[in-house]
Amino acid sequence: QPMIEMKNVTKVYDNGTVGLKNINLKINKGEFVVIVGLSGAGKSTLLRAINRLHDISEGDILIDGESITKAKSKNLRLMRRKIGMIFQSFNLVKRSSVLRNVLAGRLAYYPTWKTTFNLFTDEDKQRTYEALQSVGMAEKVYSRADELSGGQQQRVAIARVLTQRPEIILADEPTASLDPKTSRQVMEDLKMLNEKFDMTVVANLHSIELAKDFGHRVIGVRAGEIVYDGKMEDTPQSV
Ligand code: ADP
Ligand code: ADP
Repeated sequence: QPMIEMKNVTKVYDNGTVGLKNINLKINKGEFVVIVGLSGAGKSTLLRAINRLHDISEGDILIDGESITKAKSKNLRLMRRKIGMIFQSFNLVKRSSVLRNVLAGRLAYYPTWKTTFNLFTDEDKQRTYEALQSVGMAEKVYSRADELSGGQQQRVAIARVLTQRPEIILADEPTASLDPKTSRQVMEDLKMLNEKFDMTVVANLHSIELAKDFGHRVIGVRAGEIVYDGKMEDTPQSV
């Protein structure tokens, strides 16, 4: 069964804007999928629908065979553990240490009172350190997040998602605020999560060049619809 399945998904925003139009999509475990399209095409709307950061208007979305659309709050929380997010703006807690930001990947596994008093297990602290090592950031463990460069912050965000151990990683324009060299490095880190940890990756990119170099499968979106879905070799120059 697919890791992600979207069935006849339509999303209309409150102001009447159509974000997604009757999307049907299956993504299997271990795929590295890149979604490309112009600004306003619906890439972000699609990605945010998958972990139900916002609700859809029609259709159904299944995660590993289970409907996230219909999930009630407790089950939704369990399902979201399986899904990690990477954002354009990194979404780190700026004034906290790298260590604390990466430990936050484990938050969904603890009751709130434990995290309030920093009661993370030794296993989780070890996991955090290993995640930072995998992205080459181990020596920054006690730095404050806002002391790091953009590329370093995104690598910390990737370590956080690795610590979470999700099945799926959703990356919304992960390289949009980075220079070309740093962008490639961040894509390499996502590729490492995909290959070494068998995580299914879905990334929105505005750069077709990056998409071609990193995606096993490229999906083109325009005006809320899928207009291309294929292997990277055959990707058209524009969508
Ligand atoms: P992309 O990620 O490809 O740039 P988006 O998914 O952000 O595209 O946007 C798709 C469409 O939905 C655009 O027309 C955009 O203006 C609209 N849109 C996005 N967010 C909202 C919102 N919160 N309210 C109304 N319209 C929105
Ligand atoms: P804060 O951001 O609140 O100052 P820290 O970054 O100091 O918190 O610590 C975050 C978490 O890491 C806490 O759970 C803390 O107990 C733990 N921690 C702090 N130092 C170490 C260490 N040397 N080894 C393992 N865990 C640590």
